[in-house]
Amino acid sequence: MNVHTLNITSENAFPALVDKLSAVAGICLINLDHLDHSLSCEYEEQTVEELCNAMTLFLFSDWLFARLQAKLSREYPHLSDDELEYLTLVFMHELRSNEVVVGGRNYEEWLGRTKVGLWSLLESDETVFIEGFARFRLKSFQQSIMSVLRERVHQFMLDREYEESVAMLRYMLETQPESAQELHVFCAPNRVWITDANGSLVRDAEVTEAALAESGGDLNSEDLAMSILITRSPCRIVLHDMNEGAQWPSFSETLGRVFAERVRACRHCSTCQQLKQAQHVFPVDASSDHRVKRNH
Ligand SMILES: [Zn+2]
Repeated sequence: MNVHTLNITSENAFPALVDKLSAVAGICLINLDHLDHSLSCEYEEQTVEELCNAMTLFLFSDWLFARLQAKLSREYPHLSDDELEYLTLVFMHELRSNEVVVGGRNYEEWLGRTKVGLWSLLESDETVFIEGFARFRLKSFQQSIMSVLRERVHQFMLDREYEESVAMLRYMLETQPESAQELHVFCAPNRVWITDANGSLVRDAEVTEAALAESGGDLNSEDLAMSILITRSPCRIVLHDMNEGAQWPSFSETLGRVFAERVRACRHCSTCQQLKQAQHVFPVDASSDHRVKRNH
């Protein structure tokens, strides 16, 4: 009977490797060294396939997870382990469901190639360094995964930043007493403006000055409009959204998140239709005194 002896070292997820190999009938683990992350195992020829399956499963589950976690926590030390674990688990689920293709191959193809690579080692009494094997056999797989994960982390941080800013705006709004005013918010592709129920442009010199000082001089019409709206705390906001294809996070979306049930859409009112027909969208100001001021 031909008995093979294989030495295996894995820097990542070593306890899981021990568990996985212990579960295979016909494998005898010897020289288990948890400090050195190494073990030896003895098995007969007919167990090669099962051993190969167990090691492939280990590589694409516990090892990959631990490896990605270690790399991500080095690159993004300000993200918590829970956050990184969540992002990694979601990605690995998509990978197994073949929802993402990495390095030009799907998950099944990577598994198949890995099994072929491992099989030849298991039949020849070799020493297998899992990290070395993965570096050699799964290089583009790992590189591709990391580039997808970096994009996900980036998006996750943007989402988190956005959620924090919405929470801050909501908090600021809660500190303002609600007024009986109805204000109209117009969102065009290049700017945002506010009018009252009569169509007069709403300006606020004090808020503009304060917002300008806070922004360090870099103030856009969206920030200014949000500052004015929070300060005035209207009970009702009619949203005239002429920029429905705006990139996330759009002003109208943020407005809805902050003012919630106080916001309602105008449902393509005649003012919106007129503005959309006009080539250039300018603030509408129905009050004569503002018109006079603008003409100065
Ligand atoms: Zn409208």
